Amino acid sequence: MALTTQIQYLKGIGPAKAKLFDRLEIATVEDLLHYYPRTYQDRRLGAAPNEYNSDALIVFKGRVLRTQEIPARSVLIFKAFLEDEKGNQIECTWFKKRMYRGFRFDPFGVLKKDFHINNEVWVIGRRENRNNFFGNKVTVEEAYAADDVLTQLHVGRLTPIYALTEGLTNKQFRLFMHEALQTDALMHEPEVLPPGLLSKRKLLSAPQALKAVHFPNSMAELESARRRLAYEEFLLLATAWGIKRTQTKVLAKDYTYQIKKNLLTPFREQLGFDFTNSQRKVINEIFNDLCSARPMNRLLQGDVGSGKTVVALCAMLLAVENGYQAALMAPTEILAEQHFLTFKRILKDLPVNVAVLTSSTKAAAKKKILKELAEGKINILVGTHAVIQDAVQFKDLRLAVIDEQHRFGVKQRSKLKEKTSKLDLLTMTATPIPRTLALAFYGDLDVSTLSELPPGRQPIVTETATSKLACDRVREEVQSGRQAYIVFPLIEESEKISAKAVTEEFEKLKKVFPQFRLAILHGQMTQQEKESVMADFAAHKTDILVATPVIEVGIDVPNATVMVIENAERFGLASLHQLRGRVGRGQHKSYCVLVPEHAGSVAKERVDIICSTRDGFKIGERDMQLRGPGEILGTRQSGELEFKAGDIFKDKDILYQAIEDRDELLAQDPALSKPEHLLFKRKLQELYQQNWHLIDLS
Ligand code: ADP
Ligand code: MG
Repeated sequence: MALTTQIQYLKGIGPAKAKLFDRLEIATVEDLLHYYPRTYQDRRLGAAPNEYNSDALIVFKGRVLRTQEIPARSVLIFKAFLEDEKGNQIECTWFKKRMYRGFRFDPFGVLKKDFHINNEVWVIGRRENRNNFFGNKVTVEEAYAADDVLTQLHVGRLTPIYALTEGLTNKQFRLFMHEALQTDALMHEPEVLPPGLLSKRKLLSAPQALKAVHFPNSMAELESARRRLAYEEFLLLATAWGIKRTQTKVLAKDYTYQIKKNLLTPFREQLGFDFTNSQRKVINEIFNDLCSARPMNRLLQGDVGSGKTVVALCAMLLAVENGYQAALMAPTEILAEQHFLTFKRILKDLPVNVAVLTSSTKAAAKKKILKELAEGKINILVGTHAVIQDAVQFKDLRLAVIDEQHRFGVKQRSKLKEKTSKLDLLTMTATPIPRTLALAFYGDLDVSTLSELPPGRQPIVTETATSKLACDRVREEVQSGRQAYIVFPLIEESEKISAKAVTEEFEKLKKVFPQFRLAILHGQMTQQEKESVMADFAAHKTDILVATPVIEVGIDVPNATVMVIENAERFGLASLHQLRGRVGRGQHKSYCVLVPEHAGSVAKERVDIICSTRDGFKIGERDMQLRGPGEILGTRQSGELEFKAGDIFKDKDILYQAIEDRDELLAQDPALSKPEHLLFKRKLQELYQQNWHLIDLS
């Protein structure tokens, strides 16, 4: 038995069961060993209060007094009357669905074998009936014969509970895990961590840690095991990014920038406002990067409404001043279109040629754009990911800007990465990345932060209210000349169904507000329709925009002062924050009204957080804690930031240790070529091939 042995050859599994393991992405013995418990139950005797009337897990050992089988209509019931070690009598009940099968099947066969009179057994269960205080009644979840040696895997200990798929039980799974830990495969589990670090951090060896994470003998042992496994995960990822960073640092650009100001100065003069100090600082950082010898790879994070667009525009104008082309990519057509209009407006008579390209650009227009791009007649191209398609050839593209980068899918992102690896790259996001993450994982990125909002912004009052009160707020604001958004959630992730739902709501709202001009916007409309709706709203030809979350990012209409979010608990934190950011953009006091459907606990927590703070950084960190970093950064599918053992929030100290050790490791042995680092390097390469297609390790 080796680590690479297929799971079906493990004792008791076979080809049919192996299919179930497939669903858990467990193909080999090694995969199984690294499938860590989701949680643990404390099934040590006496650990739980073991009051048969409490709601806690009940764990006890008892002697069988008698048993009884009760056939009922839809369920089969097996009862055993036990006496526990304190002399209490407990009535235990098993329920099984009646299954109609072509053959005779006794669902309690195994039970009957263990539960004969006077046998000692372990029972894990919950109290049967909350309202029944007479007698000790337990609904059984698991039960084991006390004299079986394997019983100790399941009870009388900290018991691992795995996240499984239908057809696999935790009981079986623990047996398989035990089997895998017994085989000599574990002996072959390579120690990837360099010996120096193992002793420096006093970590368990790999086989010790694996044994202990599945079947810990104590809380302390479990903690050591988790620590070791988390450290390994963090060190591997931090090192990968560290190597990537040194690689990009040595790249040299074969073009240079000069700050000429023949576009930048007139641009600033006609802009109509001064940059904030924060914007000034960030623009400087970006210009320094552009003028340096290596390609820029900078992340600009700034809260919703902090003014990232004009910063990006400055960078693009510097490229144009130097005779280069620049491209800006946005995740949605509406946003791309809006950026295009904004640029045309802000750039007015400046000799800068801007074009927009999305997947709904008509063939003839597209042909013209492609031609002019190749000839260098277009200076700035704005668009969706259509911009990175192979047919799009620039004459001299040097700067790429990616707006709301976290909204791009993983595939699009790796394509972007491919296309932009030799360019100056500026990515922008309003979903701030906590410092720890930025440090460790975006090690190849430089980060700039817009830490202030432009002056004169009015606070946004965030409140929860009923639909009716929300409508009152809308009416009040529209009557005094402002505009409003009313947003409905996506239904079942489907734009089509949502479009229908939002259309129905739109018809109702027209009756609620007969005196106002309402418009509707959803993803099923044609590009032209969307454009004209947005243009009308921006020009205040309409008062109320009823929409799906298509307007979530980027939309900028300063006269809009109310954002009503219906069924608010269906939105994630980041979405709520983004939507709220659509108002409070001008000189008027603004409102964000959350209309809950009904409140669940996480949902309520989200709504509470949104009401209590406007700080996007706090919200971002909380969001990541609630949903996990992979989900937020859009890397979940690629597995890039999925940690099995570590938790970047709870295990901050381990993370910092790993970063410190990474820095030392790479300083000593940048190519990881020393013999004691060989296995570590091999592991990195292996991981990189599987998942980390975004990291270029060679
Ligand atoms: P975001 O960072 O969310 O992308 P935008 O770039 O859309 O924010 O900017 C929000 C609004 O603030 C825009 O209307 C923009 O013109 C305006 N703005 C940006 N910078 C300033 C500034 N320094 N002073 C006043 N208004 C500004
Ligand atoms: Mg923006």
